[in-house]
Amino acid sequence: MDQSQIDALRSASVAVQLHLIGGKAVPASDGATMEVLSPLDGRALTTMARGTVADMDAAIAAARAAFDDGRWAGQPPAARKKVLLRWADLIERHALELAVLGVRDNGTEIAMALKAEPASAAATIRYYAEALDKVYGEIAPTQGDVLVLIHKEPVGVVGAIIPWNFPLMIGAWKMAPALAMGNSVVLKPAETASLSLMRIVELAQEAGLPAGVLNAVTGEGAVVGAAMGLSMDVDVLVFTGSGGTGRKLLEYAARSNLKRVYLELGGKSPNIIFADAPDLAEAAKVAAAGIFRNAGQVCVAGSRLVVEMSIHDDFVAEVARAATAMRMGDPLDLGTAIGAINSAQQLAQNLAFVQKGLAEGGQLALGGGQVMQDTGGYFMAPTIVTGVAPQSTLSQHEVFGPVLAVTPFENEAEAIQIANATVYGLAGAVWTSNLGRAHRMIRAVRTGVMHVNTYGGADGTVPLGGVGQSGNGQDKSLHALEKYTNLKTAWIKL
Ligand code: NAD
Repeated sequence: MDQSQIDALRSASVAVQLHLIGGKAVPASDGATMEVLSPLDGRALTTMARGTVADMDAAIAAARAAFDDGRWAGQPPAARKKVLLRWADLIERHALELAVLGVRDNGTEIAMALKAEPASAAATIRYYAEALDKVYGEIAPTQGDVLVLIHKEPVGVVGAIIPWNFPLMIGAWKMAPALAMGNSVVLKPAETASLSLMRIVELAQEAGLPAGVLNAVTGEGAVVGAAMGLSMDVDVLVFTGSGGTGRKLLEYAARSNLKRVYLELGGKSPNIIFADAPDLAEAAKVAAAGIFRNAGQVCVAGSRLVVEMSIHDDFVAEVARAATAMRMGDPLDLGTAIGAINSAQQLAQNLAFVQKGLAEGGQLALGGGQVMQDTGGYFMAPTIVTGVAPQSTLSQHEVFGPVLAVTPFENEAEAIQIANATVYGLAGAVWTSNLGRAHRMIRAVRTGVMHVNTYGGADGTVPLGGVGQSGNGQDKSLHALEKYTNLKTAWIKL
């Protein structure tokens, strides 16, 4: 991949984005559209269908019809596998186009997008394609006069609501296992990152997925997302996004058909640095990357740096140096390490968080403001705030931007107390040479994911999910299949 290939695509015209319902590209039922702005320069990229409740209902009805007549679930596993593998191949074949389109839409740096978006989506789809005929039922060890079969059945219609950071990667985490198990899917992409996701939905049709099995409706969460949540005909709702929306989805389920709801929510993940870390320079570099790549718009971002007091000042200075060395710039430049903020609204929210942090007694050690205004886009300097009290806003609330909150500690017990003093529990890390301490911290810090002497590891075989208000259920790995299957037991008298 070289820069000239990316540059050739950077100004390509983008078609008007329609819904995909029952295998057909269709506009909103009332013809409404919304503008799609690029965070790179604040200009309009295209327009997309502003979905209505009727559009969402039509997509759910198409998914239900496709499920009920068995056009997908009824196919032999080997046939479903072939389609999914073809889909992954097509995504890979269009990887560059997909990555550039995604960056123009959501602002991620291209080097990261190439790795984390089409490549990751293709790998996820292959993983579940290969798994689908290796996951099957059981015979229970009951008494001899009965035979009890435990079937694994698809659930039916899966509704998937996707956030704007990493739409292909996260979209594939939901679509691939759901489709592999034979379900039909209705997708609701985020308002500010729909385009590349809609393109892979089109590629699924090209790969041979029968019409109606995978549908997608664009538009506002509060309209089409809510309609999905309130539907009587969606069996499982899978979501990645903010806690506020997650709360609403649980309410929607309660007010409608008690659908199962799986929530992958935010975090305020602690990156805990002990003075005995094996390599403090490496720890500082990884800590900077762990919060500033993709401008901090990463659910598992290490947004709280919890540092042993004896090394605090030197370590913070080292993290600041590492952050300054990460190049901010044009997200479509392969050398850029920190891209754009997804929207003007998110940028304003990030800046307000920093001001609040300073007003509550934090000190600015790096950044703090908007940069590259001449582009017309939304860019923010990597920002470090020190002296952040554990109960203050910057310790308690997810910014979802390039803002690192630093809090010192004196001993292991205090480090654990600070780490656990939020409602979240997504990820965390401990840096130490002491094996016993590393294991104690893994047990004591309340998260779904812990790292030791590293940060941000990712592999399709490893489940990802949080505890507390970071959500429930797991994406990735074979464990994710449980969300998309029902167990049915059958008693046979012998
Ligand atoms: P968001 O909750 O604002 O939006 C997510 C999706 O929900 C969008 O598609 C949006 O249109 C939809 N939505 C909004 N209101 C809705 C409503 N009333 N009903 C139904 N749907 C609605 O979140 P976001 O800002 O797009 O995403 C960022 C958040 O996602 C952060 O909190 C981040 O930590 C989290 N996240 C978590 C993970 C994880 O795996 N745990 C991964 C990535 C992002």
